[in-house]
Amino acid sequence: MDQPIPALREALRANYLRDENEALRDLLARARLPDDAAARVQAKARSLVEQVRASPRTQAGMQSFLTEYDLSSQEGVLLMCVAEALLRIPDAATADKLIRDKLAQGDWERHVGRNKSLLVNAGTWGMMLTGRLLSLDNDASGNPGGLFSRVAARVGEPVVRVALRQGMKLMAEQFVMGRTIGEALARSRGGESARYRHSFDMLGEAAFTATDAERYFTAYEQAIDAIAADATRQSPFENPGISIKLSALHPRYEYAQRERVLAGLTPRVLALVERAARGNVGVTLDAEEADRLDLSLDIFERVFAAPALAGWEGFGLAVQAYQKRAPFVIDWLIALARSQRRRIMVRLVKGAYWDTEIKRSQVQGLDGYPVFTRKANTDVSYLACAARIIAAPDAFYGQFATHNAHTVCTVLERVAPGQPFEFQRLHGMGEDLYERVIAEGQACRVYAPVGTHEDLLPYLVRRLLENGANTSFVNRIADAAVPVETVIADPVSVVAREDDARNRKIPLPRDLYPDRRNSGGFAFADEAVSRPILAAVRAQLERVMTVRVNDADAQMAGAAVDAASRAAIPPAHARAAALERAADLIEADRVRLLALLAREAGRTLPDGLGEIREAADFCRYYAMLARRHFAHPEELPGPTGESNRLEVTGRGPFVTISPWNFPLSIFVGQIAAAFAAGNAVIAKPAEQAPRIGLRAVELLHEAGVPRPALAFIPGRGEVVGACLVADPRIAGVAFTGSTASAQAINQVLAARPGPIVPFIAETGGLNAMLVDSSALPEQVVADVLASAFNSAGQRCSALRLLCLQEEIAPRVLELLEGGMRELIVGDPADLATDVGPVIDAEALAMLEAHARRMDAEARLIGTTPVPAGLTGHFFAPRAYEIASLDAIEREVFGPILHVVRFEASRLGAMVDAINAKGYGLTMGVHSRIEETVELVRRRARVGNLYVNRNMIGATVGVQPFGGEGLSGTGPKAGGPHYLFRFATERTFTVNTAAAGGNASLIAASE
Ligand SMILES: Cc1cc2nc3c(=O)[nH]c(=O)nc-3n(C[C@H](O)[C@H](O)[C@H](O)COP(=O)(O)OP(=O)(O)OC[C@H]3O[C@@H](n4cnc5c(N)ncnc54)[C@H](O)[C@@H]3O)c2cc1C
Repeated sequence: MDQPIPALREALRANYLRDENEALRDLLARARLPDDAAARVQAKARSLVEQVRASPRTQAGMQSFLTEYDLSSQEGVLLMCVAEALLRIPDAATADKLIRDKLAQGDWERHVGRNKSLLVNAGTWGMMLTGRLLSLDNDASGNPGGLFSRVAARVGEPVVRVALRQGMKLMAEQFVMGRTIGEALARSRGGESARYRHSFDMLGEAAFTATDAERYFTAYEQAIDAIAADATRQSPFENPGISIKLSALHPRYEYAQRERVLAGLTPRVLALVERAARGNVGVTLDAEEADRLDLSLDIFERVFAAPALAGWEGFGLAVQAYQKRAPFVIDWLIALARSQRRRIMVRLVKGAYWDTEIKRSQVQGLDGYPVFTRKANTDVSYLACAARIIAAPDAFYGQFATHNAHTVCTVLERVAPGQPFEFQRLHGMGEDLYERVIAEGQACRVYAPVGTHEDLLPYLVRRLLENGANTSFVNRIADAAVPVETVIADPVSVVAREDDARNRKIPLPRDLYPDRRNSGGFAFADEAVSRPILAAVRAQLERVMTVRVNDADAQMAGAAVDAASRAAIPPAHARAAALERAADLIEADRVRLLALLAREAGRTLPDGLGEIREAADFCRYYAMLARRHFAHPEELPGPTGESNRLEVTGRGPFVTISPWNFPLSIFVGQIAAAFAAGNAVIAKPAEQAPRIGLRAVELLHEAGVPRPALAFIPGRGEVVGACLVADPRIAGVAFTGSTASAQAINQVLAARPGPIVPFIAETGGLNAMLVDSSALPEQVVADVLASAFNSAGQRCSALRLLCLQEEIAPRVLELLEGGMRELIVGDPADLATDVGPVIDAEALAMLEAHARRMDAEARLIGTTPVPAGLTGHFFAPRAYEIASLDAIEREVFGPILHVVRFEASRLGAMVDAINAKGYGLTMGVHSRIEETVELVRRRARVGNLYVNRNMIGATVGVQPFGGEGLSGTGPKAGGPHYLFRFATERTFTVNTAAAGGNASLIAASE
């Protein structure tokens, strides 16, 4: 019985992170061929590979170049860095720096003469063209790494730069069909190309702004019209077509913006597809990241069902076999096609974002991976999906996109005689293989990217990664060192031989750390998991706020100190066990905590999830440290006849005072550290978020932290905070908050009679990001938006000052302005919200006053619209260009970003000027030049420096967090030294020879 479409969709959703072994059991059965058929596939694949290997083009062309410079060689990686950045760098000085930086690092001479390929023999990409400028033979000896200096010295840096740029363009042209659609169409009609069909791709990656999306839309329209002129066949399958990236058509094509995307993007896609249908030009929607799959299926379903397309079979979708949901997508598509009684063009690919998916899942702490972890598993999935597609000719026109000879031969073995289908390959790849396949009369389409050199860089890098990986078929077929048997190995047998389908070299996200469990997260795009969680959060939103928390008074604070002073502290292993239980309980309570964080502290749902995870991580990390350092004394070496031991132990009651901006994670982190080190704790939550604090303390008690050892004292800092700090029985204070409050506490502590106690303060920062012109503007702006405006800019790590090298500033500012316009300010409990409210009226007034000052003194770059009717303490993000660093002196805690330009030669001076402000918390650098990064690293006086990423969201045990100067005392929270500051050290020395002499020495002497 066929299942209904919605049920198939639910099945698909339920398998987002399917168990890999279970998946492979299913897929192997579907992919396995009878023995005789499998033997025919082997024989044909072998013959193809041998012919391809013998071809002069494989020997001398791009493929052998990429094999020589594969990604396991340092030079391969360096070349990819140059390829990624060089063409977009606007100024010569930075371009030269990049070249010097990368070419000086590699051992280029090692590659000379190792290969018959002309390209390889040219030695480097620069040498591809500078070959005319110097003879490599004369230079092939000498110091590795000296090649660049010698070439540069002889011909001058500008010549090398021009030559290298040419080399990059040559490289790029291998993968691009033409700079314009006209150029690409013309090329597709002539020479060898004429034997192929084409699907044109208007290069360009995710749109960042509405303007970018509009530009891509127009480019698609124009391309469709141009292609239509060549679409002269009756069947869209035989005509040239177009591939569309949905992320290029909407600036926020992401799951969290689902409603807005469906409403805005569906009519746009439909307009393009209708236009294409009028010209009989086939359209395929490209497959992008796993998080976007569900959204793309929604759009596909709506457009496919549009009455205007009735009877037209030119609309299609790419399906990635590396995703565990792939077979379910195929089943869903079959039902969809049958419901409309017409075929879907399905392009089966393996998938181009594998490394990104793995990293993302680890960062998000998912329960598993949305993609397979072994290459052979992806191959098996591909073969199983192909079998299913082939078996449903009424539902699909199969388009098998692969460059893998075994995959090709399996498809050929499976299709019925006369069954319509086609192969597909990427322009610049697999020519030799398909030359032979199309000679047998099979149809093949070329995916033909169209665009300027600058546009193709991200595409080029994906192709280089794909080809450069030594697991990739294209790489292996060109590498004579890999035996043919290995190249054509049947993935079904390879997988069947393994006991465990999972790749053990890739730990599950929860097992990322060898010494503790990683906190668990979930992807909001994983609807089967997120939908019930979000519904439960909504149901709790108001209820959680009915809890009443009364302020404590001085007397209660005194009583808590009293009890804490007498509290029996459990031994280290019991403390660790209690903290680990607390981590589990915190994670289990995430629905209530998410609701509390949204309502009481204005935290958005992703921020809330981040906090819950961080709180759990703190508990597990400090538990691990307590076991490691506090459970047993350390034996120290010394003279014979004596034993020496060092013990770390608690100091006495600690006061922890936490801020409202991380009301859960910092609150729990401080308590967990103080307790793990063997102290009783008196915890004072932020005045604005007592309910969250109360809930955390309830969970810690439930987990086994003894009640007398953890007291909850809510109230105003000036009242309970002040009297706790002043109490002489308090053995230490851990504080996170403003620099001014930290200084006030410090003075109270200093004025106290009796022992001098530790004071651990984490305070604010005037955090800067430095961007040179080798950076990728889109990546910079994505990181700037996250760093400056996430959590409404109310993180101590948040970006306050963006420093742009003047050459790159215009493009970055244009994107920043457009990107800010696309942010959503609103209710933090709504998943679509990017920026929630600021904490209270006081914060709002402070930000408004600062904005008024900036309006008068600086230039407004951009702002985010605030929806009409929104009530509460909302402050729209703003960015201002200031003339110099003199315009800001202190941290302004909220979503206001300051931007300043600098001359490339003054980068070091910029760092000094930032240091001179006295803060030292976080800093970001965006640059592809290691020398530049290194300069900043050596010179910056900050606690946390981030390169080519955002600068918020430090992970416990991975990026221990905390600053220097005005930004805090250290040691870093979530770092290996933190607990020691809460502890005291004692040594214990015993003269073991005192009674009865040194028996063990005497026994040990020969
Ligand atoms: C016409 C065409 C259109 C395309 N459109 C898209 C698209 O819309 N979206 C998209 O994502 N890609 C797309 N691609 C790219 C495509 O994903 C890659 O070209 C393809 O994966 C290469 O497969 P292969 O069979 O040629 O090579 P093979 O070398 O046999 O396979 C390489 C693939 O195996 C997978 N892999 C590698 N290592 C592992 C591992 N450890 N565990 C699991 N899997 C692994 C990866 O998917 C990798 O790309 C398209 C390709 C073509 C030819």
